[in-house]
Amino acid sequence: MVEKIAVVGAGTMGRGIAYAAAISGYRVALTDVSEAALAASRTYIEREMQRSAARGFLTDGQVELAQASLSYTPSLTAAATDADLAVEAVLEQMALKVKVFQQLDERCPPHAVLATNTSTMSPTEIGAATKRPGKVLAMHFFNPVHKMKLIEIVRGLDTTDEAVAVAQAVGAKMGKETVEVNEFPGFVTSRINCLIGNEAMLMLQEGIASAADIDKALKLGLKHPMGPLELADLVGLDARLRNMAYLHQTLGEKYRPAPLLVKYVKAGRLGRKSGKGFYDYKGN
Ligand code: NAD
Repeated sequence: MVEKIAVVGAGTMGRGIAYAAAISGYRVALTDVSEAALAASRTYIEREMQRSAARGFLTDGQVELAQASLSYTPSLTAAATDADLAVEAVLEQMALKVKVFQQLDERCPPHAVLATNTSTMSPTEIGAATKRPGKVLAMHFFNPVHKMKLIEIVRGLDTTDEAVAVAQAVGAKMGKETVEVNEFPGFVTSRINCLIGNEAMLMLQEGIASAADIDKALKLGLKHPMGPLELADLVGLDARLRNMAYLHQTLGEKYRPAPLLVKYVKAGRLGRKSGKGFYDYKGN
C-alpha cells in the first residue's frame, strides 16, 4: 500500500501533483534541483490550500494535516527514502528522465513503483535504464492537476499488472479517473491534442481566422472547454514544441511542428508563463 510519494521536479506539474497527493492523505516529499522552484512551489501549494479552504472544499483541519504531511527538499535521496511511489515531473528530455530514474532506482526501496509524468515519451525506454522495468510506468496527469479528473496510465513493455494496480489505486484515492494505455508515442491524449493544436496554429499562420475566432469556433461549435491556442498558451509553447518535435521524430511528417510555433518559441513568446503567446497576458 502506498503511504509516501516522492515527487521529483517542482515545476508546473510537480507542485500540482504534490498538492493533490497531500490533500488526498499521502505523505509527500517534493524535490527539485532548483531551490527557487521549491520555494515557489511551497508558496503555490499553501496559497491553493488556503483558497480551497476559503471556498469550502477543504476544512482548516485538512489544510493543516496536508501541510504537515508535505516536505520540500533539494535532496533526491531524502525524498526517495521510504517512498512507496515516485512520480517524476522534470523537463520532457529523455536523457534527463533516464538520469533521474537511475537515481530513483538506486535510492527508493525495492518495492517502490516509479512513474513518469511524461506527455509523450517511452516508459519502456525509461524502465530499461533501471533494474526494475516491471515497476516503471507513466502516470500522465493533466494541468491544473487538482482540477483535472484524468490520469492516463501507460504501460511499458515490461510493466506488471501489480504496478498498474498501484497506480490505479493511487489515482482513485486522489479522486481521479484512470485510463490504461499501451505505450505508443503521445499515448491517447497528447497525440490527439498536439494535432488539434498544430492544425489551429497552421490555420492562424495561413490567415484563415484570428486566434480568438479559432478558439471560439472550437469552444462553441465543437464544445471544447478551452480553445486549442489558449490551451497551448497555458501548457507553454516551449513544452508544446518539445512534444511536437518528439511526435514528429517518432511518428512522422503528420506531426511536423507548425512554423509559427517554432517562430514564437525562438522569439521567447512562450504563452502565459512569459506574458505573451497567441494572446497577450501582460497586465493580467
Ligand atoms: P517545468 O519546466 O514547469 O518543471 C520542471 C522542473 O524540473 C523544474 O522546476 C526543474 O528545476 C526541475 N528539474 C530539472 N532537472 C531536475 C532534476 N535532475 N531533479 C529534480 N528536478 C529537476 O515542467 P512541467 O511543465 O511541470 O513538465 C514536467 C513534465 O510533465 C514534463 O515531462 C511534461 O511533458 C509533463 N507534462 C506537462 C504538462 C503541462 O501542462 N505543463 C501536462 C502534462 C504533463
